[in-house]
Amino acid sequence: MPEYYVSKAAQPNGDHEVHQAECEHLPAEENRIYLGVFGDCHSAIAQAKRYYAKVNGCSSCSQARHTG
Ligand SMILES: [Zn+2]
Repeated sequence: MPEYYVSKAAQPNGDHEVHQAECEHLPAEENRIYLGVFGDCHSAIAQAKRYYAKVNGCSSCSQARHTG
């Protein structure tokens, strides 16, 4: 199962993107928070919401919930 991270930097619309560790868009180490290992991006996004009110799955690696 993949490891997931959430970006510390918000997108222009205020969302903090959730990425898998392998994603090409993964932020630099100082700009991301480690969430854990999850079987799907839904669980990772739920975890990310403990840090940020507005989170969203990355369109490249965590698209399932890319609707806000
Ligand atoms: Zn990604």
